[in-house]
Amino acid sequence: MLEKVIENWTSRLDYIQASRGSPMPEIIFKIARKPHRPVKAGTPAGGAEAVTLRDTYLALIRPIIEYGFPVYYCASAASLEKLEKIQLGAARIITGLRRSFPKEIVLFEADLQPLHLRSKNILTNYFNKLSSYGHHNKTSLYFKNWHNNQRLKRNSPFSYAEHLQLPSSLIEPHSLKSCLSPSEGLPRVHFHFNMSAPVTKQDLIPAHLRQLALESINEIPCDAIKIYTDGSRLDERAGSVIYIENSGQNFYFCHRNPDFSSVFKSELTAIKLGLEAIINESDYGELWILSDSRSSLQHLHNWTQVGDKTSISILQNVKLISKHHDVHFQWIPSHVDIFGNEQAGRLAKEGCSLLTTSSPSITYSEHQSKISRQLSKEWKSPPSHHWYAARKPGSFLDLNCDRASKTAISRLASGHTKSLSFFEGRKTFKFCSKCKVQQASAEHILDCLGLSREDLYDSPLLVIDFLRVNNLMDLV
Ligand SMILES: [Zn+2]
Repeated sequence: MLEKVIENWTSRLDYIQASRGSPMPEIIFKIARKPHRPVKAGTPAGGAEAVTLRDTYLALIRPIIEYGFPVYYCASAASLEKLEKIQLGAARIITGLRRSFPKEIVLFEADLQPLHLRSKNILTNYFNKLSSYGHHNKTSLYFKNWHNNQRLKRNSPFSYAEHLQLPSSLIEPHSLKSCLSPSEGLPRVHFHFNMSAPVTKQDLIPAHLRQLALESINEIPCDAIKIYTDGSRLDERAGSVIYIENSGQNFYFCHRNPDFSSVFKSELTAIKLGLEAIINESDYGELWILSDSRSSLQHLHNWTQVGDKTSISILQNVKLISKHHDVHFQWIPSHVDIFGNEQAGRLAKEGCSLLTTSSPSITYSEHQSKISRQLSKEWKSPPSHHWYAARKPGSFLDLNCDRASKTAISRLASGHTKSLSFFEGRKTFKFCSKCKVQQASAEHILDCLGLSREDLYDSPLLVIDFLRVNNLMDLV
């Protein structure tokens, strides 16, 4: 079965490789590059804007290159290199930079992440998600029971995942089945996404919000248990906090969550811990859970779709408690000085700084955001080059000027100007048309204009004006 899948994908890969010469991607690009008539007055005759070209590439070509990546990622390095070349070609068209440019700079200028970085991201996501599904998903089951017996001569996607140590052991299972029977439901559980009066945009005055929230809280019967919950995140650390009011007795506790937990999950963890704290209580009327996270409450409300471990635990406990008590989930606004909520919010920040965390497992989406952050950090550091000093990818793409000027400024920034040639292994440039004394290297051009390299990044439009006024555009 696996052989067939690979064969299928390899043929698609071949198609993409074959299409490099003429069909789809290049034709689309040619259309984008040379519109039949100018779109609007002022558009340069050279064709579409760099940003339009980039969008076209991202919308129409990159998805084809990345389609089915988890399966064909194990293709030979040479084949994958061909895919990178398609992207590099697109980056050259977008930026207008010549072939002699270092490819890292071209990709950085076009703000296109190398495919191997992106694919690592996609692949990790795919296998982590797959493994989290457990036995309900056939592919996941197959993957779990799979052993590399090397029957296949080529790398299979699974053996490649094993090589990359995927899936991560930190991923917590995600159920695909509802944990509650839909016929039984949750009859004594009520969700309130609004307060005593519906909140509209005009109610954004904190005092008014506070008033409404207090009205809602005052309507809660005296013999009810109130649990205020809050979750927060500081950099990569996350914490949850629970503040419980039970017939005049108040207590609270904080909890440090695994690093990279989302705020959303920290909110849910807080609700889960709150329920666990009162599950053995019996001497009360109703149970009210007050959270300032509407999205968590909405998530729990759609309990037929819920599959994450934390929410399942919440629902199971709610089901137990609701046999004897009515359970209410009430949304309250945050930061409007409601005592319990403010306490919970303040303590949640403390929760982040607690030293220990109970279980290190995180959901696949949290793990994904962790990987994406790491990769984007890796991507955002500019390629090392003695002259190039851009601070972020695609820094010249959004400039408010024509495409030729953007290309000129990119060239100047990378040092590979139009007049550059190599003579006996050394870089030589044409003579500067302004001073007519020295060679017009990027460094000299800026010197001659009385500008510095920082001006390229701080005020690129000014540099372009200087180049035009001094007739130096031909050299850049
Ligand atoms: Zn000069």
